[in-house]
Amino acid sequence: MTLMARYSGECPECGERWSAGDLIRADEDKAWKHAVCPTPRPTAAPCASCFQIPAANGACGCDPIDSKDS
Ligand SMILES: [Zn+2]
Ligand SMILES: [Zn+2]
Repeated sequence: MTLMARYSGECPECGERWSAGDLIRADEDKAWKHAVCPTPRPTAAPCASCFQIPAANGACGCDPIDSKDS
């Protein structure tokens, strides 16, 4: 079932939020999620230092890329 969201919510499938008015759907598990999730990001390789998956902007927290020559 697909319908227009009346409230914003968080999609358990992709972790992104939807806004009221966006199309969402419910599967057999009754969990609401995006009708179509936002553009799936390519799965980034985990950071070699902290093993976290970098965020969309490429930052993982330990930031080994932008070292400042300190
Ligand atoms: Zn989603
Ligand atoms: Zn890192």
